[in-house]
Amino acid sequence: MPLPEHCPLCKAGAENQSVVTPHVFGAKGARRSFFHCESCDVRYQYPGLTPDQEARFYAAEFEHFMASRAGDSGGWQDTEKHIAANESTRLRRMAYLDPHLTERLSVLEIGCSSGFMLYPLVGAGHECIGVEPSGAFSDYVRKRGLAVYGSVHELHTLKPDALFDIIMHFFVLEHIADPLPFLQSQWKLLKPGGKIVFEIPNAADPLYTVYNIPEFERFYWSIAHPWYFTEGSLRYLLDRLGYSYEIIREQRYDLSNHLIWARDGRPGGMGRFSHVFGPPLEMAYRDALIRSGQCDTLVGIIRKD
Ligand SMILES: [Zn+2]
Repeated sequence: MPLPEHCPLCKAGAENQSVVTPHVFGAKGARRSFFHCESCDVRYQYPGLTPDQEARFYAAEFEHFMASRAGDSGGWQDTEKHIAANESTRLRRMAYLDPHLTERLSVLEIGCSSGFMLYPLVGAGHECIGVEPSGAFSDYVRKRGLAVYGSVHELHTLKPDALFDIIMHFFVLEHIADPLPFLQSQWKLLKPGGKIVFEIPNAADPLYTVYNIPEFERFYWSIAHPWYFTEGSLRYLLDRLGYSYEIIREQRYDLSNHLIWARDGRPGGMGRFSHVFGPPLEMAYRDALIRSGQCDTLVGIIRKD
């Protein structure tokens, strides 16, 4: 097994690095592992994908890969189904986005996929632009009348004066090989008072830290992710930027999903037993995970003061 000489984020030495798992979902026998840096608390894939491997992965394999992870309920095969399947996700995000959408704003979503976050925002009077490298999704979003670019670089080239009130991305940052310049380039696209809002997986996911389900371990650590952050390592990253920020804890998956993981060792259980539990138990479970910090998602909000 190849061993890192130092942490790629904080540069702490080999004595601070330990293996999290040799099971990398999608690695197809390649000798990769995830490591943990005790110094900054980040988890990272080593060796990482080369820029060539990464480009090939995103061009050819990403949608197929996501469909195989999401199973039938994710709806990646069909864009309309994707929008419907993500309505509960959209509503969950709107709970923390709403306070930031006080007037008519210009909004950029990086990695807008089917555009499911954007259509209701357009309906509410906001001006929305998407960035989406996947051709199938970007064609669809364009057909629904939104401007969409293949990359932030392309947006900047074609609209060099564009500035935004809100730049958002959901489950994108953990895919980015070099997250600091990624966030710095968005900072430059913010108006004064503007905000970057993003979601990432929390490496303190309860299926891993509370239940420690072996099948989950073989599913969770994905070749598509150079990084997995915790609150501590996300703070380390954001402190390097020197911007003001807050971190919010979130829980995406419900008690039914966790029980199906525990019983059957697989995803896809969302909502299965909700009719038995009822909303008070669902909310109490979610709140308990968030309170403990052993929750599956982190939200970062960066402000340009
Ligand atoms: Zn480190």
